[in-house]
Amino acid sequence: MKKQFAVIGLGRFGGSICKSLSEQGMEVLAIDTNEDKVNEFASIATHAVVADTTEENTLKSLGIRNFDHVVVAIGDNIQSSILTTLMLVEQGVNHITVKAQNDYHEKVLSKIGAHKVVHPERDMGVRIAHNIVSKNVLDYLELSDEYSIVELEAGQTVNHRTLIDLDIRAKYGCNVMAIKRDEEINVSPSADEVLRQGDIIIVIGADKDISRMEKDLF
Ligand code: ATP
Ligand code: ATP
Ligand code: CA
Repeated sequence: MKKQFAVIGLGRFGGSICKSLSEQGMEVLAIDTNEDKVNEFASIATHAVVADTTEENTLKSLGIRNFDHVVVAIGDNIQSSILTTLMLVEQGVNHITVKAQNDYHEKVLSKIGAHKVVHPERDMGVRIAHNIVSKNVLDYLELSDEYSIVELEAGQTVNHRTLIDLDIRAKYGCNVMAIKRDEEINVSPSADEVLRQGDIIIVIGADKDISRMEKDLF
């Protein structure tokens, strides 16, 4: 059976989630209080309805607890976002992802039982900042406060050198998880793999170690 998703709030964030889920062939119910928004998504989502999700009976009549995953993307109205989330938790929805507006909002959402809280503006800011600081950092995924996965573009310094030669694990405590070369991706490369300029190297490690390695080699 196809997974059933519901997206509440069709602003830029919720709208983009809704579109992408539909493009991936998922069943999506799009919900917003704003009729214009709902009309805009009528041809994109499987169903689109005008509804205020802070009303408990409305949520119940939509059968919201039967959905596999509900995304709350109510932006500026923090109170509505919290109230909606609380009722989804109370009705026993299995997976609830909520967009937080700020750190306090995030804290409240986690406390009341949201399964995943996302903070796209902040997270994107961090990623872009890393990207701006070093032009070799193509992408960046924060695993925790201390650990990350980064995508680095191989430059002159590492051209024609092997992982043994660079001694990345021993010297920097980082692990090369994969090497992308054109369309090919080499997962868990061997120690004698020869790097080439332009390769994309995916590395996991502590932030301080990654940045040492970046300075020396990228
Ligand atoms: P983004 O930053 O992602 O573009 P936004 O800043 O546009 O979002 P808002 O406009 O505040 O965020 O909210 C997103 C949508 O959520 C709006 O289209 C709004 O009508 C809808 N919305 C707000 N409150 C409710 C509610 N109680 N029930 C359903 N939809 C709601
Ligand atoms: P191990 O058995 O510890 O996984 P190995 O068999 O892959 O190592 P070694 O000959 O021990 O290869 O590797 C020598 C050095 O090459 C390691 O200490 C390390 O610095 C570096 N190295 C090898 N593979 C990687 C990798 N995937 N990422 C980072 N460094 C690596
Ligand atoms: Ca916004």
